[in-house]
Amino acid sequence: MTTTERTGTGRVDGGVPVLEARSLVKYFPVRRARFGVGGSAVHAVEDVTLALPESGITAVVGESGSGKSTLARMLAQLIKPTSGSVLLDGKPAVPGRSYARAVQLVLQDPFESLNPVHSVRYHLARPLQVHGLTGGASLDGLVTELLERVSLTPADEFIAKLPHELSGGQRQRVAIARALAVRPRVLLADEPVSMLDVSIRLGLLNLLADLRDRDGLAVLYVTHDIASARYLADQIAVMYAGQVVESGPAAPLTDEPAHPYTQLLLSAAPDPDRPTPPTLAAQGAPPNLTRPPSGCRFHPRCPHAMTVCTQTAPPAFALTGGHSSACWLHARDLTAAQSQPLQGRGRGGQDDGPQQATAKETPA
Ligand code: SF4
Repeated sequence: MTTTERTGTGRVDGGVPVLEARSLVKYFPVRRARFGVGGSAVHAVEDVTLALPESGITAVVGESGSGKSTLARMLAQLIKPTSGSVLLDGKPAVPGRSYARAVQLVLQDPFESLNPVHSVRYHLARPLQVHGLTGGASLDGLVTELLERVSLTPADEFIAKLPHELSGGQRQRVAIARALAVRPRVLLADEPVSMLDVSIRLGLLNLLADLRDRDGLAVLYVTHDIASARYLADQIAVMYAGQVVESGPAAPLTDEPAHPYTQLLLSAAPDPDRPTPPTLAAQGAPPNLTRPPSGCRFHPRCPHAMTVCTQTAPPAFALTGGHSSACWLHARDLTAAQSQPLQGRGRGGQDDGPQQATAKETPA
């Protein structure tokens, strides 16, 4: 059996990525039993490996509770991993001001991330001052440059405004400008457009693409919307119940989703370029992560589930072109007993169709 690492995205150029997560695990304790025995924990992120290359956008896609935001916060070093490591330029990341400069996080709700009593000028000038980045230049001049960089022009119209005087899209642009003030190399964008009107999302996505192309930023785009990930990202990692279940280049992954969960996500995503979207009936809801399902965590919802799926977690099978999928449907050597469909489900089940996950592994 040929597999890739348990989870992960490929590197775009084969070089050292700017930022890397290796086998990150995060458990949140939810109850501490007396005498320290029998406590439980939410298994929020389980063994996730991810590489963010320079001048590249990597999307992490999944439903609420899939662990994608927890992953972003571990990469920002706001949350300490239970195990695993974060590497910056191939070296273990050291928390502190230098790391905070290199890796900036933009949150979902710009209203919460901006102080309502401070002006745009204050929000953009403060990081320049704290990190000593003025270099003798005019502070207002630098703030103006930042506003122009995020297309808030003419800057004079915005510089003195308070957050409540801006639209949601303008507030998010200010939040991005504040992140850019310290000249980061990595931007972690956690659902940056999900609270914005559909009509202004595209402008924000194009801004992120521009930051990749013009400034060479490594961007992590966290989203529940696989259609926007396809539009924006170079690589996509699909997370389910704390694990990466499929990863690879954005176009092939969304054109030919290999994992039943990715097919489920795509079946719910509008896409005018795809006249016949893949269909897969959703069954149930994401699992309780204090007691994750045995074997494949998707098996309670999966119409293709087999006996082996309930017993053993699937490894990530290497498909073609850096595409991988953690699903037993790609295995070549299952026994008849292992590939026995669960009652009412299975390889020939009710939801089989053109997008059924039947691609087989190829030697890596
Ligand atoms: Fe998981 Fe099995 Fe369904 Fe693949 S076929 S997604 S391994 S339950």
